[in-house]
Amino acid sequence: MLREIELREKIKKAYEIEKKAKEGLKKLDEAKNQFIMATQHHLRTPLTSMIGYLDLIFGGTYGKVSPRIKEALQKFQISTNRLIKVINEFLDISQFQLGKKVITLQPDVHIEPIFEEIVDELQLEAKARGIYLKLQKQAKMPGIKADPEKLKLALYNIVDNGIKYTNEGGVTIKLKVENSRLRIIVKDTGAGISKEDQKTLFTRLFERGKEAKKLHGTGRGIGLYIAFHIVKAHNGKIWVESEGRGKGSTFFIELPVG
Ligand code: ADP
Repeated sequence: MLREIELREKIKKAYEIEKKAKEGLKKLDEAKNQFIMATQHHLRTPLTSMIGYLDLIFGGTYGKVSPRIKEALQKFQISTNRLIKVINEFLDISQFQLGKKVITLQPDVHIEPIFEEIVDELQLEAKARGIYLKLQKQAKMPGIKADPEKLKLALYNIVDNGIKYTNEGGVTIKLKVENSRLRIIVKDTGAGISKEDQKTLFTRLFERGKEAKKLHGTGRGIGLYIAFHIVKAHNGKIWVESEGRGKGSTFFIELPVG
């Protein structure tokens, strides 16, 4: 009897220690995310001002700009915009991890103009890689409840990957409506994804496939993680099918209509 009481006391104590450790970890995690959020804010403000000054320079406010300097400043602008994109992505990730609301759904959002913009923005890159980028639409697509800016970011990441990881052939985007759901299919003829990698692709931050590293040394392994969380916040589903390495990949996104 005495031993039983002792044992119960020990279990209770162990449970309390574990509970305190968990609370401590949760606080640490929150503090880390708050720190990241504050840092992003302080980084974003001067960067936005840099972009503003560049616009003024290009607009002629500070006089005529020689073609050589213009070319250098355009590269500067591309890098600054890339940095702003990265900062915004990290901000989104910390918000997702804090369970904060990142998505504001609006009614009657149309997906075709979003894809037309994405295709316009990425067509040059596809051409530069010698591959095609095609958009196939169904006759009339219904509006959906969506956050157009965030949804564009998720879809952009998927199409951008298709281009990055394809050396021959290209990327085809198909839009369909099936059983009151909008289905987006992004199919490429590229590197493919092993069954093993498919399991963790959307949920592990900073994880990159071996083949991907060979094809693109500079990836960051956050595009699909963000896409997954954005689609989830739209009450949608995202998944990938691939027969394996070298056999292309098809990404599917399903979103509720109406
Ligand atoms: P990144 O492309 O920066 O590495 P992502 O999160 O966008 O990060 O993608 C994670 C990984 O998923 C990639 O490193 C790559 O291994 C794999 N992947 C994503 N899209 C494709 C694709 N279309 N074809 C082949 N592999 C892909």
